[in-house]
Parts: sequence; structure tokens; C-alpha cells
Amino acid sequence: MSSVTFEQVSKRYGHSIAVKDLNLAIEDGEFLVLVGPSGCGKTTSLRMLAGLEEISQGNLYINGKRMNDIPARERDIAMVFQSYALYPHMSVFENMAFSLELQKVPKAEIKKRITSAAQQLEIESLLDRKPRQLSGGQRQRVAVGRAIVRNPAVFLMDEPLSNLDAKLRVQARAELSKLHRKLGTTFVYVTHDQVEAMTLGTRIAVMNQGILQQVGTPQTLYNEPRNTFVAGFMGSPAMNFLPARLVEQDGQLTVIGNTFTLTVPPDQRSPYAPYRDRPVIFGIRPENLHVPGFVPPGIQPLPFKATVSVIEMMGNELVLYLTTADRQEFNSQEPASQESTSQELIARVDPRAPLQIGETVEMVMDISRFYLFDPGSGDRLG
Ligand code: ATP
Repeated sequence: MSSVTFEQVSKRYGHSIAVKDLNLAIEDGEFLVLVGPSGCGKTTSLRMLAGLEEISQGNLYINGKRMNDIPARERDIAMVFQSYALYPHMSVFENMAFSLELQKVPKAEIKKRITSAAQQLEIESLLDRKPRQLSGGQRQRVAVGRAIVRNPAVFLMDEPLSNLDAKLRVQARAELSKLHRKLGTTFVYVTHDQVEAMTLGTRIAVMNQGILQQVGTPQTLYNEPRNTFVAGFMGSPAMNFLPARLVEQDGQLTVIGNTFTLTVPPDQRSPYAPYRDRPVIFGIRPENLHVPGFVPPGIQPLPFKATVSVIEMMGNELVLYLTTADRQEFNSQEPASQESTSQELIARVDPRAPLQIGETVEMVMDISRFYLFDPGSGDRLG
């Protein structure tokens, strides 16, 4: 039995629809991350689960019980808000004790639970302080502590790390991951940050414009994206997309792009064959583009020419912004594709590569991992 089930759940505000036909089953003990750009409906989904927002249509179940009409306080969930929502006039201890007192938990039990949570979160020395006497990171821990003491069936978290600086965020992320493993409880976590989603989620649900796009493990979403939205959203810098055409040429299925011609290996041909003679979007990730002299062994190389327009030194890699050369200029013997203007590409390459801005380079694409999408629907082909 899954611990949370959204069944055809929709949320309307007047005529606008914030969440449309959401079907999502979250298993017991999962760390499920809802991710997507601003306004995609992730917070609304979480708030419907919390009981803070009414469901317009569909059914919501927690541990098999329909929850649509059950008030928030009876849902056996605890929520950590982006703002932390700590009571400013109460001490840390009182903040953590508050909901337990409302539930009439005996005093000795409250003390025991708070002591244990405070130990886990290393905030024992802060229990007498007021929220204003805490740093941002400490406040975040107290907000998590207040959720832990309630022993909920499901933890809900809405961007709980977004008020922390970058370094603290990385640390707090690792702590949340550890906490999840230790508690073994279901976590449902909302973020707009795909790195946070990739590092925290045992599974990730990607939303866009109120519609769930894909659910899967971080690896599945990264390696097997269902459409251009997921492909472009997961991974930073984002996947490169280039217009191309799929044709049959000399008995071989061929992708003709602006600056490259790629023969689909015979063993990969069958999923793409029905799309022959159609325009497609060709997708390739920045780490699959290499500079000469730093091409890793064992790849399927395909050369193409591009001009370096920006170089970002990241320490462990260079991020290159490239402009592909026009087909007519470099490949005049090739048949001209429909698109003949140059394109922008991003590559993540070896930091030792001696490159200059403005230089034209014979880049190498590793086509052992490329993607083709339908330009109309954005769906991945094959
Ligand atoms: P963010 O990351 O910016 O918080 P989100 O993905 O969490 O975005 P939601 O807050 O769920 O998005 O909002 C989804 C859509 O519903 C948005 O278009 C938003 O404007 C709309 N919406 C949210 N709350 C209300 C409301 N109370 N009344 C009307 N429209 C709302």
C-alpha cells in the first residue's frame, strides 16, 4: 500500500487550473521530490496533501484512507515551511512542544521526544533560545525538529532550504538525506531546484503548467527523459536541443542537423524508423561534447565545427558556450537542411583545454547517447 495517493486530483482557482489530473502514488518510506519551475503547481499539490487547500476534483489517500474532507490536524502529517513559521515569542523548546501539547501528549513524553529530536539535530544547546536568537541554519533545524517530534506518517517540506546560503544549503541537504534514512518515514519535498531534487529524491516528480510530466528515480529522469521539458529541466547546464531531420539515406536512417549528419546505428534504428522523413529535435547533453585532445576513449565520436563565444572556468571543468558553424560554410558537400542558421550549444569540457574566445574548434560529439524528440509535442521518439 502506498502511503500517499493522488488520484486524478485537480485544483482550480476560478477559471484557472493550478493542478490538472494529478495521479501519483508515493510509497511508504520514499523521499519524493516534487520539482518544477515557478507556478507549475507543486506547492498547491503539497498544500492539498497537507489539508491547507481544498481539492477541486479527484481523491487523495493517506495510508489508504480518503482524506479529501479530513482537516489538516487529523492527517498525521507534519509540514516544514519555507519561512519555518516558528512562533517568535516562544522558545525553541516551546515551539517544538506546541503541537504535542495541543494533542494532550503527557509532559514527560513531550520532554523525551524533544530531547531525542534535539540530539539528532544537534540543537540541544538552543532549546531555551527564542527564534530571533538563532541563525538561519539553526532556525531551519528547529523547524525540522518541530516536525520530527510529532512522529508523523508523512513529512511535507516546502522549499525548506531556500533561505540558507549556498554552503549551508549543501550541508543541510546532506543532513536531511541522513535524517530520512534514519527515520525511514515518507518525505514529500517541494523545490524548484533540480540539483536539490536530484540529490535528495529517491524518486522525483517533475511538473510543468499544472501537469505531471514524469515520475522516476533521478537516474531515470536524467537518462530517459520522456519529453523535451524533462530533458531540459533535469541537468545543469541544460541539454542542448538542435532542429534536425530524420531521413533514409543510402539504406541508412540518418539524422541531418545544421552542422552534423549522424547515421543511426543499425541496432538503434527500430524505435526511430516510423519517424522517417520528419523534422525532429536532436538532444545532446553538454558533457557529451568534447574538445580535440581531450576526447575520452570508448565513445562514438562525431565531429562538428563550432566557435567559442564564452568560457566559464568552473575549476573541475570548463563550460563553453559555442556557436555552431553554418552548414554551407563548412559542409558544402552536404545537402542543405531546412535550417541553415547557426545555433548555440553548451559543452562541459576538460579544464585543461587551451581555448580562446572567438576560436573555431573541431568539437567531438559522443553520439552513444543522443535523443530525438517530436518538435510538435516535445515527446521523446522511440
Ligand atoms: P512557486 O515555486 O513559485 O511557489 P509553484 O510551482 O509552487 O510555484 P503554485 O504555488 O502551486 O506553484 O501555483 C500554481 C498556480 O496556481 C500558479 O499559476 C498560481 O498563480 C496559482 N495559484 C496559487 N495559489 C492561488 C490562489 N490562492 N488563487 C489563485 N491562483 C493561485
